[in-house]
Amino acid sequence: MRVAIVSLSSCQGCQMAFLSLGEYLYDFMDENHLPYVPFLLSERELPEVDLALVEGTVRNGDHFKRAREVRGKAERLVALGTCACFGGVQGLADMYSEEGLMRRRFGKGASFEDSPAPVRRLLPLDSYVGVDAYLPGCPPPVDLLKSFLEMALSGALPNRDGATVCSECRVGCLPLPQPGPRRIIEEEAEAGECLLDQGFICLGPVTRDGCGADCPSEHGIPCSGCRGPSAGALAEPFLDPRLESVRRLARATRKRPSEIDGSIKDPAQSFFMHCLAEPLLRRRRPGGTSSYIKRLGER
Ligand code: SF4
Ligand code: SF4
Ligand code: SF4
Repeated sequence: MRVAIVSLSSCQGCQMAFLSLGEYLYDFMDENHLPYVPFLLSERELPEVDLALVEGTVRNGDHFKRAREVRGKAERLVALGTCACFGGVQGLADMYSEEGLMRRRFGKGASFEDSPAPVRRLLPLDSYVGVDAYLPGCPPPVDLLKSFLEMALSGALPNRDGATVCSECRVGCLPLPQPGPRRIIEEEAEAGECLLDQGFICLGPVTRDGCGADCPSEHGIPCSGCRGPSAGALAEPFLDPRLESVRRLARATRKRPSEIDGSIKDPAQSFFMHCLAEPLLRRRRPGGTSSYIKRLGER
């Protein structure tokens, strides 16, 4: 099989995950032809391939042309990583006007006249070109990437179904109520106990499974939703990351949902760090992402 890896606007972390496959990468390269992998090869022209793994987002006109080119040359196209699948952390840029964003990143007075025109707002890759399969994660866990590639080589591509991070989590339950809402950057969590029960925002109930839930159950860190919204969170209006997290925190702390909602200092990052650009959540009111989008004409 001829396989290419293509980067749009990205940190290239997903491509690094591919290079972290260890022994399997050598087996994969023995059995397949990789004519275009920028981290490994200096080949500049993208040839026709059977499978293209595309990481990153369409940030400007050049990326759009690139995405169209890949779609035209690839038999099957996979959105690799949460940026490509849901907009990822880059979607947080939609909270700012274009000028505000440039000022925050490069300081006052920076000139970008020669830069390609940016898109008005971030969107997942499938808003621009057809996508045959999705492998979210920031970056995708290496074991998951390996099993995904094995499946792709057998001719099948996994769909977007799946359970949530909570279904993989190995933590205990605490007696309620507990204090909260709490922030992990301000307070330490009790190891081995459910973070939500402890009053922290943990997006495990609305995030797709597949990572092994190591953040909460191994490291005592709340899930930030890096695998993107679960199939249920995308399909069910009342499973919106914000509404569901507030509801669960209200239960854990025995406080009113409005009190919880009003006390979250950074709601966009807390609830939508990896999926602010996802259109299915954006259309949802009042729990959706629309109220955080500041780019012109994009409410
Ligand atoms: S999904 Fe994460 S690792 Fe992959 S390109 Fe985006 S920010 Fe980087
Ligand atoms: S710690 Fe988070 S992921 Fe684990 S069970 Fe609790 S809410 Fe779910
Ligand atoms: S627990 Fe959440 S943040 Fe951690 S890897 Fe899994 S999906 Fe990502």
